[in-house]
Amino acid sequence: MTDTQLRLCLVGAGISHSPSAVMHQAAMEASGIEGSYVLRDVPPAELDTFVDELRAGRYTGCNVTAPYKALMAAACDCLEGDAETLGVVNTITVRGDRLVGSTTDADGFELALSNRHMWPRQGATALVLGAGGAAAAVALALTRVPLLRLRIAARRPEAADTLAQRLHGSGDIATVPWERDAIAREGAHSAIVVNATSAGLDALPFDPRALPTGCSVIDIRYGPRPVDIVSAALESGHRASDGLEMLLQQGLLSFSVWTGVAAPERAVRNALMEAVQA
Ligand code: NDP
Repeated sequence: MTDTQLRLCLVGAGISHSPSAVMHQAAMEASGIEGSYVLRDVPPAELDTFVDELRAGRYTGCNVTAPYKALMAAACDCLEGDAETLGVVNTITVRGDRLVGSTTDADGFELALSNRHMWPRQGATALVLGAGGAAAAVALALTRVPLLRLRIAARRPEAADTLAQRLHGSGDIATVPWERDAIAREGAHSAIVVNATSAGLDALPFDPRALPTGCSVIDIRYGPRPVDIVSAALESGHRASDGLEMLLQQGLLSFSVWTGVAAPERAVRNALMEAVQA
């Protein structure tokens, strides 16, 4: 492998089922770019060693997933765009011995919803469940809707408060208690509800079937089987979507960050669909 080739990886924990390698290998192949993309399942105690490897040039870039998005942001020498606002990264580019961090999750979420014609209208109310890394990106993306009323509910109220404060100044943003009644009340006048937790129907104080007609339901989780919240929402007549399109879009954007060229969407989409259905 020559020095001009891409050497990419995904760093996270418990990532053996991630389709990221398949997506990026398809992107490189269809773009005629040589390189590799491997999964690096790193235990927390070995994250510092991984950062040293990255800085030493073993990889030209990496994606970052749970639980390392904030830790890897702290390891970067500089953060760009949304990563600076949120303090999390999902994409790192190695420039010399410097690590430049960015995140494509917010833009990926926005593109995914726009592609599915589910992006909220000006002045809409949106309810986000969760206050982790992905919820922060989702909430940030939603603040770009003019005059949006954004509500955030999370099982740890302090995490919801921290996220709301981080986005302070971006519009009408407040938190909602993590209680079934409060979430149902807020959902009743929301145009869109997003589950950005890693939990499903059985664990959340939220039932999409109780939402009013016309409310869109997004669950950013994805997998080979239908996502329970999405199935329940569809069954009760709501528009609903899982996180596959977001996964695709954030991946395409990461590829552009590393290569400076647009990723070949059709090839990557086909590879992703095959990988998740396998
Ligand atoms: P984090 O670990 O950063 O955050 C997880 C969030 O879920 C936290 O708010 C956590 O609460 C909450 N949570 C977990 N379990 C429960 C539960 N039983 N009840 C209530 N809240 C719960 O993970 P991420 O934000 O990175 O990822 C969240 C989900 O989004 C994952 O399923 C991930 O696969 C998906 N994702 C999808 C993407 C896509 O492109 N489609 C991109 C990124 C993520 P607490 O802090 O209290 O633990």
